[in-house]
Amino acid sequence: MSIVIPQWSPPTVPVEGTEAQFPVRRIYCVGRNYAEHAREMGGNPEREPPFFFMKPADAIVTDGRMTYPSKTADLQHEIELVVALSHGGRDIPVADALDCVFGYAVGLDMTRRDIQGELKAKGRSWEMGKAFDQSAPISSLVPASRIGHPQRGAITLAVNSQPRQHGDLSDMIWPVADIIANLSGYVTLQPGDLIFTGTPAGVGKVERGDRLDGAVEGVGELSVRIVG
Ligand code: MN
Repeated sequence: MSIVIPQWSPPTVPVEGTEAQFPVRRIYCVGRNYAEHAREMGGNPEREPPFFFMKPADAIVTDGRMTYPSKTADLQHEIELVVALSHGGRDIPVADALDCVFGYAVGLDMTRRDIQGELKAKGRSWEMGKAFDQSAPISSLVPASRIGHPQRGAITLAVNSQPRQHGDLSDMIWPVADIIANLSGYVTLQPGDLIFTGTPAGVGKVERGDRLDGAVEGVGELSVRIVG
């Protein structure tokens, strides 16, 4: 087969403690999945159905260096547990959902908050606030075969060693199995899909030169420098 432009390979995430890589197909993200964060965003902390948005697969950053993006003066951090799928399907029952999980990582849903705010106010799509280049820094993936399926434990982020975000996985409004089940009602999930599962309270602004240190208890750590 001939192709008319240079072929690219899927972006990949390293698997912790191995030489293996996990190829990324799509990145789904859950909005407002911790009540305290829903409140700080001026939203409803009640248990409404989860809502989703996406980032492009090549938004992942695996080398710990994120270039400050264009068109914003309010780049913000959102530390999140990331789920990586080894199996997919549609209309997946909650009881079967965790069988689809390959493993977990620590991720940052980096957000151009000023752009997101303008789009929100106009009732437009969030994409240019959320789905931009290098907007998804991520740690190595840890297989569920090694750590199980973490359902509680601290999720934290510090900027330049100052604590910013703190929550617990048990505070998720929609736990991982529910997210997978619900999302699979909208789209057919596939091996290679990542799901960013929402952020706890304490989101805030970062600047060039800042160092972000995130952690999810029982999963791992993620350090990112903002450059450029
Ligand atoms: Mn988020």
